[in-house]
Amino acid sequence: MTRMPPVPRPGILEIAAYVGGEAKLGGHNRVIKLSSNEGALGPSPLAVAAYEAEKGEIHRYPDGGAAELRAAIGAAWGLDPERIVCGAGSDDLLCLLAQAYGGPGTETIVTEHAFAMHPIYARYAGSTVVTAAERGLTADVDAMLACVSPRTTLVLLANPNNPTGTMLPWEEVRRLRRGLPEHVLLVLDAAYAEYLDDPRCSAAIELVDEAGANTVMTRTFSKIYGLGGLRLGWAYAPAAIVDVLNRIRSPFNASRPAQAAAIAALADVRHVEASRAHNARWRRWLVEALAAHGIPVHGTEGNFVLADFAAAGRDAAAADAALRARGIIVRPMGGYGLPGCLRITIGTGEEMAAVAEAVAAFMSGTAGERARA
Ligand SMILES: *Cc1c(COP(=O)(O)O)cnc(C)c1O
Repeated sequence: MTRMPPVPRPGILEIAAYVGGEAKLGGHNRVIKLSSNEGALGPSPLAVAAYEAEKGEIHRYPDGGAAELRAAIGAAWGLDPERIVCGAGSDDLLCLLAQAYGGPGTETIVTEHAFAMHPIYARYAGSTVVTAAERGLTADVDAMLACVSPRTTLVLLANPNNPTGTMLPWEEVRRLRRGLPEHVLLVLDAAYAEYLDDPRCSAAIELVDEAGANTVMTRTFSKIYGLGGLRLGWAYAPAAIVDVLNRIRSPFNASRPAQAAAIAALADVRHVEASRAHNARWRRWLVEALAAHGIPVHGTEGNFVLADFAAAGRDAAAADAALRARGIIVRPMGGYGLPGCLRITIGTGEEMAAVAEAVAAFMSGTAGERARA
């Protein structure tokens, strides 16, 4: 008998596993974690209470159809609950869409500095990933349309995009949709929608409604709602795509405590408003603090900034080390092909002050050497 271990489908072992934001630093009991774009104010206390109230019921399966949660999402944003599908984070839904509408022999278009999971899910599906160049770190509709071939079935676009923080104007997204063949599915990943001036993301919703049953919007409870640890996202999609997602998703992909917490989070409008105002205020503050040292930022549409240390003539890896020496974890961008940049999540006012102080020390050349034990 020859020894032959099982092998995964072709292509799987060519996928480089996603590296999440780090959470721990040796030598620091308390770290300032600004590496994963988690909402600065955390979850609503009402969401925490709803989560805790479920503890006597966790032996019970959740409602697999998440009816109450879909009704709450529908009521919050003026959407038909029948056109909503929930999942274990929007990641779950992005993965299902990539598999259902991609596959061997097809091509999926992603942007140059796309959210890292977009190409991973496309590769997992067996699709060929076609990367469209950006212009000024922003998605470029003409470049995306130039990538279309007879094999194209899927386009993934995060708007605003992470990690660049840049946003394609919705008029341009419409132009993209008009330029794509009707049978190509366009997925608008709107993980940061709630930080926009229009937190409903009406332009994306209109596209889903009008485009011709070929456009989907995904959303998440991981960012402004501060529930990343519970894993909950949703998609708003045409009926035929809702049907597809419901056929292939795992039956209980949104846990009982997650559904309860999300319903409460949606109801706590004041907490969401406070989170949005906090983000706008401290994002502006951080941008100015960085600018004072000649460090430009790229996009500022989400709850993070992409700070370009290279543009200020400084080494981003050295800046990262200086921040780490003070217990501050941000996201290095080498894996995204942006080695001169660091992505910094907007945290509390105290955390932002600590970042500004660390950056000031680094830029004046006094950081690093003064290691704090
Ligand atoms: C954070 C993020 C997600 C994933 O969110 P989950 O709902 O936690 O899976 C998806 N897309 C983008 C662009 C993100 O930044």
